[in-house]
Order: sequence, then C-alpha cells, then structure tokens
Amino acid sequence: MRLVLLGPPGAGKGTQAQRLVDKHGIVQLSTGDMLRAAVAAGTPVGLRAKDIMARGELVPDDVVVAIIADRIAQPDARRGFILDGFPRTVPQAQALDRLLAQKDLKLDGVIELKVDDGILMQRIENRIGQMRARGEPLRSDDNPESLKKRLSAYHAQTAPLAAYYRDRGILKTTNGMAPIETVTRAIGRLLEPAARRPAARPKSPPKAASGRKSKVKGRRAGSGGRKTGAKAAAKAARAKPRRSSRKGAGKRPKNAVSSRPRRLTKRR
Ligand code: AMP
Repeated sequence: MRLVLLGPPGAGKGTQAQRLVDKHGIVQLSTGDMLRAAVAAGTPVGLRAKDIMARGELVPDDVVVAIIADRIAQPDARRGFILDGFPRTVPQAQALDRLLAQKDLKLDGVIELKVDDGILMQRIENRIGQMRARGEPLRSDDNPESLKKRLSAYHAQTAPLAAYYRDRGILKTTNGMAPIETVTRAIGRLLEPAARRPAARPKSPPKAASGRKSKVKGRRAGSGGRKTGAKAAAKAARAKPRRSSRKGAGKRPKNAVSSRPRRLTKRR
C-alpha cells in the first residue's frame, strides 16, 4: 500500500502514520525526520535546510524530491510506504507522480486530516509546554513565530494538494480533531477498499531498477561512489532511529523503519 498523509503541522500525521506502519507492514517516510537527520549529520542538504526549517519555511522542492526519490527506491519501501510530510507543494506531488509512474506504481490513497488552526496552535503549545516540563530538547521550529509560518505555508502551499488529489479520485478526508483512536478507526474504514486490493508489485524490480540497484544494493545508497547531499540525507535518516518523542509522543519507542526489514526478508 502506498499512501500520503496530508494535514497541517500538529494534526497527528506522525501518530497515525505509526499505526498504519504497524497495521500494514509498510514503512513511514517522513521528510521532516530525514531533513532533521541531515541537519544533525551536517550533510550539504542539512546545511542548506537548517535555517529554512528553523524559520518554519519550506525547503526547496528539488531537495525534498531528491531525498524521496532515493528513499522510495530502497528495498524496504518495495512493499509500500506512507509519506508523512511529503508532498507539500503541487510541484512535489507532480514529481511524486512521475517517480511512481516510472516504476509503474500508483498511490492507493491520500488521507487528509482536517484540524482547525486554533486547535493546532493549542495542541502545539501544549506539546511544547510538556516537553519543556520534561526537560526535553525542543525542535528549532517549535516556537510561536515558526509555528505561524508553518501554518501559513501549509495553507498557501500544501492545502491545494487536497484539490489535486480529489481531482484524481484518491483523496479521503477525516476529522483530525477527534480522539486518536477514533481517527485511527476512521482511517481504517477509509482504507478498507485499498487494503482489500492485492498489493501491486513494482514492475520487474530487479531488472527495471538495475541502474539504481547497484546504488541501493545492500542498503548502501550513497556510500559507494560520490555522495549527493540528498542521498546522504536519506542514508542518515535510515540509519537514525525515528524519534517518537515528537510525533506519537512516546507512544511507541520502536523505530518503525528499522523494525520492518526483518519481516520483509522472511517474506521475500
Ligand atoms: P515536519 O516534521 O514534517 O513538520 O517538517 C519540518 C520542516 O521540514 C518543515 O517545516 C519544512 O521546513 C521541512 N520540510 C519537511 N518536509 C518538507 C517538504 N516535503 N517540503 C519542503 N519542506 C519540508
């Protein structure tokens, strides 16, 4: 299953994505996490993204598209993935369509979590307060100014994606203000038809992907030859356990991405 989770910052995308990972055995791909890993690792992408992220603005499309292109080519994404925080602009959505079309793949659904701005601000402020009380480090963009910017970036650049996917007949909207369990059940119902469909496999993965295969073999993307910033970012993201403290608020300490390959290996 290949899904996109759409929703403003603080809508609960990370929490719901984790639950979908558990339910469907797919990987969660969060561009925000990958970029934070790149910033922490000091890669060229990280250096380029650092200040933009701290201001609450969007990182340029070419940077995130390159990261995602590399990441969805990895073996653990073959069974499916849930994109959390990508695409965030119409050009990113178009680039994703092209990337998938090259592999003869399609999105099974786009889940939009609707949450009012007032509630988002409240949720995020509460979360910042709780993290401060626990003495946990805050993200560089967890401050009122950046939050406002992130919200306005969402409305201006990301919200139009709802119409983009509605036009393609794959948008499924649910109320993200309901309790977490209720949202999870609603998403489960929305995805029932897609979950019943047999999983589409990439067309002839070993042969068709031969160009990329040599790069990703053994999960060593970017480690053999010349490293691009995006590849290094994706690699850093894969190597780094996903921090669940922010999205999913400590509900599940396990790293979703790294927990999957074992199962995949058995099945293949
Ligand atoms: P997130 O963790 O998804 O809230 O993302 C944190 C920050 O990373 C965003 O405010 C952006 O600066 C950057 N970012 C994450 N994903 C994207 C994307 N798809 N396009 C552009 N910037 C992104």
